[in-house]
Amino acid sequence: MSTYGIDLGTTYSCIAHLDSNGNPEVIRNNEDDSNTVASVVFFENENNVVVGQAAKENVETDGDRVVQFVKREIGKRDTRTYEFDGKTYTPVEISALILTRLKNLVEAQGGTIEDVVITVPAYFGLEERSATRQAGELAGLHVLSLINEPTAAALSYCARQFQEDRTILVYDLGGGTFDVTVVKMSMAQNSSGRDVQKITVLATGGDDRLGGKDWDDRLYNHILHACCDENGITPEEVEAETRQDIRSKVEEAKRKLSKKQSAKVRIDVNGSRTEVTVKRADFEQMTSDIVAKTMNFVDATLEKVPAEAIDTVLLVGGSTYMPMIINAVEAKFPGKVQQHDPDQAVAKGAAIYASMLVEEVGTPSEGEETSGGETSHAEQLTSKFTVEDQTPRSFGPGVVDTKGAKHKYVLENFIKIGEKMPAVFSKTYYPLEDNQERVLLRAFENMSTDDALIPCVDEDGNPQATDPAHNVKLLGELVVNLPPNTSRDTPIKVTFKVDASGVHVEAVNTKTDETFETFLRTESDIDVERSAVHQLRISSD
Ligand code: ADP
Ligand code: MG
Repeated sequence: MSTYGIDLGTTYSCIAHLDSNGNPEVIRNNEDDSNTVASVVFFENENNVVVGQAAKENVETDGDRVVQFVKREIGKRDTRTYEFDGKTYTPVEISALILTRLKNLVEAQGGTIEDVVITVPAYFGLEERSATRQAGELAGLHVLSLINEPTAAALSYCARQFQEDRTILVYDLGGGTFDVTVVKMSMAQNSSGRDVQKITVLATGGDDRLGGKDWDDRLYNHILHACCDENGITPEEVEAETRQDIRSKVEEAKRKLSKKQSAKVRIDVNGSRTEVTVKRADFEQMTSDIVAKTMNFVDATLEKVPAEAIDTVLLVGGSTYMPMIINAVEAKFPGKVQQHDPDQAVAKGAAIYASMLVEEVGTPSEGEETSGGETSHAEQLTSKFTVEDQTPRSFGPGVVDTKGAKHKYVLENFIKIGEKMPAVFSKTYYPLEDNQERVLLRAFENMSTDDALIPCVDEDGNPQATDPAHNVKLLGELVVNLPPNTSRDTPIKVTFKVDASGVHVEAVNTKTDETFETFLRTESDIDVERSAVHQLRISSD
């Protein structure tokens, strides 16, 4: 099969497909003897770019030629670029290098790869999503769709056991991010009257700067100090090679501590061999505050969905292998915790979804029979699931509220976060003044569920820093030219349509029937003088 699911992670990425029996299977990274590929790129020289564990081993010694955590920058405004050997790389291009490495894994094992589904965090906005898609295309992949990571994890969990009407809390602790998401699985009927399982995101929370790396850093400092004590030196006297030696052994030691009560680490401290033994109990003590921090985020998310409503807690992400995490979550949700291949679940769910989209499974090839007339596992998957796409953000135009003594610029949310896609909403506005030549209709995305946000932008249309909680972002502008002598009573009907591929904005001058439209996938460059007068106002007064 040439359809794959890809978990493009902040620290590790993973690729999976459905095997000939329709069961999700990860493509091994034989070079690193792992199920995953480190999302780290090392630009050794102009002829050699390395992705994976080998790249990670250069972080301390050659850090300025290593790029990691690029997912935090993908699709962000004013994002930085990287320059190596006279070439400039954007986060999209770096991500494409990671995706190419995953593609090569498949090809090296004789497979062909065409259609893929790539996973994204549930909180990713439109620009992050479209940048992820672009990275896939740049790597020569045909991106069928994106899917939210917790939804993919829930999908792979449900492939093991079908559930009716369940509310699942996905606790995803990766290498650099922590995401809490509540998803609801429910039975519904599709358009052809068939029972299908629907997966809906109810609440999201977490911290994009919290993950396994924080545990690594604590362990690194612990080992560094132990090495110094043993050799009678100060941390400042420790050479870069020694630091890299500790850095590259820390993660392995952490993984060992997930299985064993203690881990021995041998470090070459400025030329002299030193052995440090770390006990699991000590490791747990030195990191207990970070465990507590993740539980606080769980509590915050439970303010939106009551704890009693949670039927199952799914542990996802490589860091949930740590017994301290399993214990902490189990203590809060006794008997409800489930963990299955936490570092692969997201990629496997994406593979299931990808196969559903191309309907490759469920149609056994000729000569292949399913035993006893029963449907195959693969058939069950495709016939029973549907993933309801929801808007990842709220969307709406910026308009002027003329009521009151002073004009106010407001963002009216047409479509709210979590609405079923495609979502459409229209409203009629009016030019701010008589004889207005044009309107610069700004389209925004944000994370608020309020009908309107005031104030949301400064006079130039830039989102105001005073409202960071709602993550207001200017997506682009639509220029609506008005004919001469247009009166301020001319109704202009504005429509927003949001679907998986982006936001479609349309404005119709209902007097002339002239239609203006734009498709906002990424920032649009509009070279028109910005002015406060080029606006629409809310009502005809
Ligand atoms: P991402 O953050 O990219 O989504 P993963 O979910 O694969 O990636 O999580 C990676 C993190 O999981 C890393 O910090 C890694 O050290 C950690 N990890 C992986 N396996 C284990 C293990 N057995 N014990 C402890 N931590 C682990
Ligand atoms: Mg992940």
